[in-house]
Amino acid sequence: MTAESHQAAFYDRHWEHTSTAADPHIVAKGDLVLRLVPAGVRTIVDIGCGDGYLTHRLAEHHQVTAVDRSQVALQRLRRLRAPDLAGVIEASADAIPLPDRAADLVFSSQMLEHLPEDVLRGAAREMQRLADRHLLVTVPHRETLRRRYARCSACGLEFHIDGHLHAFDAAALDRLFPDFERVHTEFAGPLEPPAYTSVEWLRQHLCRHWWMWDSLKIACPRCGETSLRKPRRGPLRRAAERGLDRFTEFWSRREGRVPEPYWIITLYRRKAST
Ligand SMILES: [Zn+2]
Repeated sequence: MTAESHQAAFYDRHWEHTSTAADPHIVAKGDLVLRLVPAGVRTIVDIGCGDGYLTHRLAEHHQVTAVDRSQVALQRLRRLRAPDLAGVIEASADAIPLPDRAADLVFSSQMLEHLPEDVLRGAAREMQRLADRHLLVTVPHRETLRRRYARCSACGLEFHIDGHLHAFDAAALDRLFPDFERVHTEFAGPLEPPAYTSVEWLRQHLCRHWWMWDSLKIACPRCGETSLRKPRRGPLRRAAERGLDRFTEFWSRREGRVPEPYWIITLYRRKAST
C-alpha cells in the first residue's frame, strides 16, 4: 500500500468506529451551528461531512450538498437516508466538481485540521470559490496536538490519534480566507485542560503514556499496522507522570490559563470587493 492509501484507510477505519451522533457535545454543536446560519441562506455545501450528523441537521432547514473523500463515511451518510440532501459527492476537499459560487454558504466542521499543508491551501481556495456569501467553519481551537499522540509499535511513527495535523486560532483561520471577513466567533465543546507540548512529550517518552487504550481500533497512517497496543509501564513511570501533572497544574496557574472549550466556530462574509 502507498502512503496515500494508508491515509485513506486511516479515515475509513476511523469512520468504521466513530459515531458523531452519539456525542452530546456534537449534538450541542449542531444546535449552535443551526443558529449561526444567517437568514436568507438556502443552499449549503458541507465539505468533509464525515458520517453526516451535522449535515443532516443542516438539511432539516437548507438544501445541502455533502462532500467527503471517505467512502465509508459516505456510505454511513447514505444509510441515514435523509430525504433532503441535494447531493453527495466523493471528492478531496481541494478539488470539488462544483461551479463557482455553487452555494450561499460553505460549511466545514472538523476537517481543515486534518489536511496536509498543500491540500489545506487548496481546500481553503475551494471553499472561497464555492461560497457565494458565507463560510461557516469549525475546528479545534489552539489544540496542543501532541496531547493526543499515539505511537506505532511497528514503525515508531508518532501521530495524532484523530489525524490532526494543524492547530488553529481565529487569526490563523482568517489568513486562510482572504476574500472573506469574520463576522462572528463562538467557542463550544468539551473543556480542554491547559497542556504544554514539551510536557506531553515527556509524558509519552519518559512515562510511556500515549493517547492509546486497549480496545483502540486504528491503523498507523504510515505503515498500516492495525494491532496498536497501549505500552505497559511500572510504578516509577506512573509516579513520574504524577509529577508532570503537578507541574502542568502549577505552570498553567502561574500563566493564568484555564480549561477552554475544544472548538472554535467562525462565520465569515464575502468581502464586498471580491
Ligand atoms: Zn507504523
